[in-house]
Amino acid sequence: MAKQFKPETLCVQAGWSPKKGEPRVLPIYQSTTFKYDTSEQMARLFDLEDNGYFYTRLQNPTNDAVAAKIAALEGGVGAMLTSSGQAANFYAVFNICQAGDHFVCSSAIYGGTFNLFNVTMKKLGIDVTFVNPDDSEEEIAKAFRPNTKALFGETISNPALEVLDIEKFARIAHSHGVPLIVDNTFPTPINCRPFEWGADIVVHSTTKYMDGHATSVGGAIVDSGNFDWDAHAEKFPGLCTPDESYHGLTYTKAFGKMAYITKATAQLMRDLGSIQSPMNAFLLNLGLETLHLRMPQHCKNAQRVAEYLQKNDKVAWVNYCGLPGNKYYELAQKYMPNGSCGVISFGLKGGREVAIRFMDHLKLAAIVTHVADARTCVLHPASHTHRQLTDEQLIEAGVRPDLIRFSVGIENAEDIIADIEQALNA
Ligand code: PLP
Repeated sequence: MAKQFKPETLCVQAGWSPKKGEPRVLPIYQSTTFKYDTSEQMARLFDLEDNGYFYTRLQNPTNDAVAAKIAALEGGVGAMLTSSGQAANFYAVFNICQAGDHFVCSSAIYGGTFNLFNVTMKKLGIDVTFVNPDDSEEEIAKAFRPNTKALFGETISNPALEVLDIEKFARIAHSHGVPLIVDNTFPTPINCRPFEWGADIVVHSTTKYMDGHATSVGGAIVDSGNFDWDAHAEKFPGLCTPDESYHGLTYTKAFGKMAYITKATAQLMRDLGSIQSPMNAFLLNLGLETLHLRMPQHCKNAQRVAEYLQKNDKVAWVNYCGLPGNKYYELAQKYMPNGSCGVISFGLKGGREVAIRFMDHLKLAAIVTHVADARTCVLHPASHTHRQLTDEQLIEAGVRPDLIRFSVGIENAEDIIADIEQALNA
């Protein structure tokens, strides 16, 4: 149903089309395994010669229905759910990078992704170079090496809220024969569809707006099917040469446009196993059914809160790409004309200490290690999510030490503003 329907319809209906007598609501296939009549039928599944379920670590019908919905929303050919956004980012890169390889990454990314790339993946022998995403194409191109296999960025970075110039990044990636991977967690496909601007792979922390209710940690990888792996076969042996662990099958030959996402499932999920539980996938699907209603409300409320903060003389600075004059306003208008996300950041006069006091006085907005759900919440990244980063790394990631990350929920905007006001005056 993917192509002919608009996002609102896809949110509600894509992924699960019950046949006669089947449940109207996507069922939770809470089963590790699936039954076959003959040994031969099962054997064909293990050789990837037949489609079918055999073990939930690889595939599960509930998860696949939700992944299909996310693929439809992003306009991709296929998707895979993972146990977390971290797992999605790791798999997305590891699917095409092995020890001795290198990739280039925007420095404006989530702190957890930064650690994954800068520390853990380096221990696996995969090197990364971080670049300032606002640098010129020529400057960013200098980071590429003969063994570079991907370029990575976040549509709207968490928590710096820098907007990625997706077309520029796609041009740089493609001129070096590598795919562009974009973490599209904050805008979601309701507000931005990176494939339409040249991205090849999209990743999500579904934990955020997609789930939207803060019930389930999860992630997703979506494949556009557009990157021509065979045209750069020497760079991507994992996709373009036989996989000995699948009896010499070559993913690009056997699966064409689905090569990347099939390898991620058949090989990485088989071997590393960071699956999303079917129960979490079911909850994620409930969230997705209202994503198209929630995102505009988040954006509308965030705009009101940002405008209020901008006028308040206790506030030192406000960063929200929906504010005219913001460094990323024009890019946001180009890539997200209907709104960006509900997350804003700001600093208070008096700096770090005043920020912490302000947060402690909030009543409606809760201090939580979370962002992007229905309830307004707040965090001080330098004290919390990013506390393992040095001051230098914080600045590089666009996180000022006084930065308050404020995730505007879908409550009444006046109530949210009243809460901020009483905390500022306390
Ligand atoms: N990507 C972005 C943009 C994020 O904000 C986060 C988490 O905050 C992640 C990835 C990691 O996702 P998860 O917490 O689901 O592992």
